[in-house]
Amino acid sequence: MRGLMMDYQLTLRHILERANRLFPAKHVVTRDRDGVCRGSYAELFGRVHRLAGALDALGVRRGDRVASLAWNHQRHLELYFAAPCMGAVLHTINFRLFADQIVYIANHAEDKVILIDPSVLPIYEPLADQLRTVEHVIVMGEPPSGLGSLGGPPVHRYEDLLAAAPAKYPFPDLDEGEAAAMCYTSATTGHPKGLVYSHRALVLHSIVEAMVDVVAVCERDVVMPVVPMFHVNSWGLPFTATMVGATQVLPNAAPTPTDLVRLIETQRVTLAAGVPTVWFGVLSVLQQGRHDISSLKRILCGGSAAPAALIQAYERLGVEMWHAWGMTEMSPLGTVTHLKSYLDDRPPDERAGYITSQGLPSAFVDMKVIDEQGQDVAWDGNAMGELVVRGPWVAASYYRDPTSADRFTDDGWFRTGDVATLDSEGYLHIADRTKDLIKSGGEWISSVDLENALMAHPCVAEAAVVAIADEKWGERPLACVVRRTDSEAVSRDDLLEFLRPRFASWWLPDDIVFIEELPKTGVGKFDKKVLREQFKDHARSSPS
Ligand code: AMP
Repeated sequence: MRGLMMDYQLTLRHILERANRLFPAKHVVTRDRDGVCRGSYAELFGRVHRLAGALDALGVRRGDRVASLAWNHQRHLELYFAAPCMGAVLHTINFRLFADQIVYIANHAEDKVILIDPSVLPIYEPLADQLRTVEHVIVMGEPPSGLGSLGGPPVHRYEDLLAAAPAKYPFPDLDEGEAAAMCYTSATTGHPKGLVYSHRALVLHSIVEAMVDVVAVCERDVVMPVVPMFHVNSWGLPFTATMVGATQVLPNAAPTPTDLVRLIETQRVTLAAGVPTVWFGVLSVLQQGRHDISSLKRILCGGSAAPAALIQAYERLGVEMWHAWGMTEMSPLGTVTHLKSYLDDRPPDERAGYITSQGLPSAFVDMKVIDEQGQDVAWDGNAMGELVVRGPWVAASYYRDPTSADRFTDDGWFRTGDVATLDSEGYLHIADRTKDLIKSGGEWISSVDLENALMAHPCVAEAAVVAIADEKWGERPLACVVRRTDSEAVSRDDLLEFLRPRFASWWLPDDIVFIEELPKTGVGKFDKKVLREQFKDHARSSPS
């Protein structure tokens, strides 16, 4: 027997129209040169209609890709709704990638129109002639030297196009399975790989993200996504925040930690989201001066492992840091950590273990850990293997990439490439990326555990642990450490002594090198590829 409910399509148009109908007076706040500028949801709605009309006039049709090279700001949010709601596909490009990757991505996606921030034009200009399918360029602001100097396809001013567009755009009724957005993830080998998010996936992701036991986003929130809008849709927060009518605070181009603290203070931000590096920077500003961050209730932190020391430092400031794990292939939400009610009474160490873990799978994300033979391992917190996932916002394939079939199991699970354990309560503990694990004498060493322990030392600002080749053991860990500027005194031996009681002796790094800065990827994660290359010939000196 079939259910007798309506066949209602889950599309982003509902989110846009709901926000306009119920929350027209709520605001989107964008940091700008002189402070901030504000637009109401009612204004946003009107501008989304005009932008859709403008794109239509430039020839954008259903299924066409509309790309952006842009920071987090209101115009980008307008594009987040205009392109998908008119049936086109929003394609956010990470402009911090290498130039040849940007060219590859834009050509592979066959972007028809590209919207660019004035501050990103210097990245675009040398590539303009290589973007084979781009027919129009729209500059989202005033370029420093006017439009005339830009080569390549015709260039338009965003505001001119909006002013000339009709006030209403007849958004079509879309099928929820249609593509709404695209994002490329840079692979360790080969070209970046494209993900295509459907309306249905993004709507379901928004509903679940808003849940109290997930990210708990509500109308009363003032949400500041620091995670870039070119990185997995800013973790879906622009859609979720609009859906619930939350105020959105968008930090715009290249915000410094001081800019972020100022936004938290002045806009009374309640929820902020970003990678650990961002929160380390903000922490040092908070530790240097007096700031009123009393509005900030929680930080969503993920993208790479949030060290326990970071979570605890914010706890002391009265801010809960919710550790989350996800992937571009998962739109990106997988897990968020919350302590189950009946674990409140557990000893502090055990509680801390749950709070610093990657957390519990959210509703509709199935996960399991499999061994090298593809068999499920026990949920006992010890048995390690590869994490595989499935769910309504998990990729079923990459865009036009037949070479990636091995990323999926025969029975349809996505292989994350993360090595993990699941404990008996269901908390996920990520040990490493498969490629970052260190295999010493046939046994695995987790670089993440060593890094977290090192970053708990008061003199350590950042630490990354990589494998170096070793004749006897195959691989051995090398720690690369950035000292805090105020603590030059800590030595290699001090740090090894600090680690010794915490790990089996064979886990201890063979050496610790001090460097000025850790190389970071385009989205702010430690770039271990660069470190592995830099230290591949590092001479080992055994720890005493
Ligand atoms: P991306 O697709 O760029 O967001 O990268 C996804 C990868 O980042 C995951 O497969 C993990 O390796 C890593 N990652 C994301 N969140 C976390 C986390 N909370 N802890 C450890 N690794 C993480």
